[in-house]
Amino acid sequence: MRRLVVVGGALAGHRSAIHARRLDPDLDITVLAAEDELPYQRPPLSKGYLLGTVSAQRVRLRGAGEGYRLLTSTPATGLDLAQSRVLTHEAAYQFDLLIVATGARPHQLEGFSPDESVLYLRTVGDANRLKEALSRIHHLTIVGGGFIGAEVAVSARRLGVEVTIVEQSAHLLSRAVGTGVSRLIEENLQQLGIQLALDSSTTIESVDRQRLVRDGSREWLTDLVVVGVGVHPSTEWLGGALPLRADRGIAVNEFGLVDGYSQIAAAGDVASWHHPLYARPLRFEHFEVAANQALHTAEALVKNERVAYGDLPFGWSDQGELLVQILGVPSPDLAEEEESVVGGRMFLYRRDDRIEGAVLVNAPEELMTLRDRILSSLSSQ
Ligand SMILES: Cc1cc2nc3c(=O)[nH]c(=O)nc-3n(C[C@H](O)[C@H](O)[C@H](O)COP(=O)(O)OP(=O)(O)OC[C@H]3O[C@@H](n4cnc5c(N)ncnc54)[C@H](O)[C@@H]3O)c2cc1C
Repeated sequence: MRRLVVVGGALAGHRSAIHARRLDPDLDITVLAAEDELPYQRPPLSKGYLLGTVSAQRVRLRGAGEGYRLLTSTPATGLDLAQSRVLTHEAAYQFDLLIVATGARPHQLEGFSPDESVLYLRTVGDANRLKEALSRIHHLTIVGGGFIGAEVAVSARRLGVEVTIVEQSAHLLSRAVGTGVSRLIEENLQQLGIQLALDSSTTIESVDRQRLVRDGSREWLTDLVVVGVGVHPSTEWLGGALPLRADRGIAVNEFGLVDGYSQIAAAGDVASWHHPLYARPLRFEHFEVAANQALHTAEALVKNERVAYGDLPFGWSDQGELLVQILGVPSPDLAEEEESVVGGRMFLYRRDDRIEGAVLVNAPEELMTLRDRILSSLSSQ
């Protein structure tokens, strides 16, 4: 009987395990999961879960823990390639096939160690702590103006908390999208009464049970700091056993197989995947990308039937009145140009004549047509 070991028990890990089970009912499948939770989805953690409109039950992924052996609280600590084993503190797991789906973890900002008044948001445990804090605090400071920071700000504001977002760039989301989209997001947050401290270099010090934030000539007291300054792939446990790319993701070909290995694949936030449409490696932090890559890795390993992952990457951010949908790679380095659409806003990002990415703001009905347009633009040259 062939043994598949999956490292990482969240979205990509769970999806690859259940798909592998569908493909081969006889496969012996073990999922090693660092967290003490059944597999769950993260997007509600900054939105409905904080607001109490999405329950813990609904956050869980369908079929979580069914059809495979799930070992929770069992982080992998090493990979022994010579003997095809994944190591944990207590045991070694022999594999014929291996899928790495260890995702990403938040960058920790110097001087902002997590404690009772400094939080990072990645896990359901983090969300529980944040949710509890939001029910009793008056003021929240968010360090980092990315998607998660903006979503937490909106949720906190809806719960009646005063919020300031501190961002060192001149615009929010400046690494993810162009200034046209940033401005819309900034306007929406300001209309909700959220303070923005842009172009800011902030220091924070403890004052009794609160924190004093200093930003140039301004200073304010805050009850809680949430740090959201990006994530990095969780690859430390590999100790260099698998090849990594410049984006720090595991180097994976267009089928999901790790470069140089036919029995090891990687999917989701941890994978730097060679994308055939863009003819370059790309690493995404989008739910749909992780979910779909997981299926490809299972197919490539278990069925040995390789289908290149050529989907147009898709992600979204729900910020109250604003639904932001991201297609392809709307890199801020590219020219951003707005096209008029009924009801919402649409921004295209071109490299020469190719549309490499786009962002829709409150225009979900444009999604399918735009997806086809970008796909045909990318494949026509
Ligand atoms: C708060 C929040 C909101 C989000 N909202 C959106 C959204 O609105 N739209 C969108 O498109 N995307 C969103 N995302 C991103 C999306 O959730 C991720 O892209 C997705 O979770 C990636 O799935 P993954 O399985 O690759 O990685 P992860 O979800 O990071 O899961 C990896 C798992 O592997 C485990 N692990 C790590 N190291 C080890 C080890 N050594 N041994 C065993 N297990 C290990 C981790 O504990 C984790 O459980 C959001 C993310 C967060 C945190």
